[in-house]
Amino acid sequence: MRRILLIDDDRLQFRLTEQMFRSFYGEQFALDWSSTYEDGLPKLLSGGYAACLLDYQLGPRDGLKLIAEAIAADCATPIIFLTAETSANVDTAAMRAGALDYLVKGEITPGSLERSLRYALQLSDTLKQLKLLATRDELTGLINRREFDRVLAEETERALRFKRPLALVMCDLDYFKSVNDTHGHPAGDAVLKAAAGVLLAGVRTIDRVARVGGEEFAILLMETDRADALIAAERMVATMRAKKISLPDGKIASVTLSAGVSVFPLQGNDAASLVKSADEALYMAKRAGRDRVVPA
Ligand code: GH3
Ligand code: MG
Ligand code: MG
Repeated sequence: MRRILLIDDDRLQFRLTEQMFRSFYGEQFALDWSSTYEDGLPKLLSGGYAACLLDYQLGPRDGLKLIAEAIAADCATPIIFLTAETSANVDTAAMRAGALDYLVKGEITPGSLERSLRYALQLSDTLKQLKLLATRDELTGLINRREFDRVLAEETERALRFKRPLALVMCDLDYFKSVNDTHGHPAGDAVLKAAAGVLLAGVRTIDRVARVGGEEFAILLMETDRADALIAAERMVATMRAKKISLPDGKIASVTLSAGVSVFPLQGNDAASLVKSADEALYMAKRAGRDRVVPA
């Protein structure tokens, strides 16, 4: 059963909502209740809820603020506002803040509540799918360049603020064009998927691996200094070299990888300088004969 979180300082509203939930015709939901901002926000951010019903006037606190905090923390749970008044201002303020719908407390019926929840859940599923489509590379399932740029900007800011190290590895398959030329495009695709697998297997779950071009990949190693970044990059290059890749026609191929490594803050303290240094190092790796790691 999907869980819905009600954040409202009014116990009566909880009882009413509970009652309405029991009279729903369609899907049944389980209702949890938080009566304060301080209790509700972490519950909402736990990610364990399918949707949230949020009181506009949360005791002395403001429901709009709670939404803003939740969204700043990347909360993807759909939120429906509950307000005491009908007002166009409240309506637009709620939508602007990121609510998917709003309901006027005195006018809520089991039917309108059920309908609003159903629409919010459907819309949030659609939004999640759209987000997935917009951020993923279809062939490999890795994040795409746009998403990588966003993550990189966010992480360099975090590294700067908390004075933490951060490493960027730019890599490119060697003589990849000849794989396509010799075995055909579908074989090239299989090699790209295998390379994505090798890179993903070589990092921790907190790290990010992106396909940023045809046969170009970028890896962001969180909280990682120069020495550890070089070890990780060497390991990935070695694994790629040793990997026997099965092609669609049954043949086996292998490819090598070149990598350039730059590290925050040694190579600069913004995303652009990190990318530039790692790209230059990658170029040096190619020039020096490929199948190797070069630090910036
Ligand atoms: P280098 O060692 O200098 O990197 O040489 P390279 O052959 O790997 O590099 P080049 O840039 O000359 O060729 C990249 C090739 O990647 C050309 C392009 O057709 C191929 N490619 C790009 N995207 C895809 C894809 O999605 N699938 C397949 N099969 N090939 C792709
Ligand atoms: Mg290449
Ligand atoms: Mg290339």
